[in-house]
Amino acid sequence: MGDRWHVEVDRGVCIGSGMCVGHAPDAFRLDTARQSHPREPVSDANERLLAAAEGCPVEAISLALADGGEPVFPPEE
Ligand code: SF4
Repeated sequence: MGDRWHVEVDRGVCIGSGMCVGHAPDAFRLDTARQSHPREPVSDANERLLAAAEGCPVEAISLALADGGEPVFPPEE
């Protein structure tokens, strides 16, 4: 891929399922209130990150190109 992605978790939406940590433990962690946090605000694009965003049951994770800001997930309608 080669891109860099900006990673964000909407903690008003996150229900603490932990699925993102299961998909990409290197990219997300749960705090003591079981809220997910990206480990880094910007990461190299990779399949695990995309799988985590796609797998979040409440679509709390958004990915955007770090260079330009175009949405990666959820994709633009
Ligand atoms: S998968 Fe979604 S709801 Fe579950 S902990 Fe991660 S961000 Fe929160």
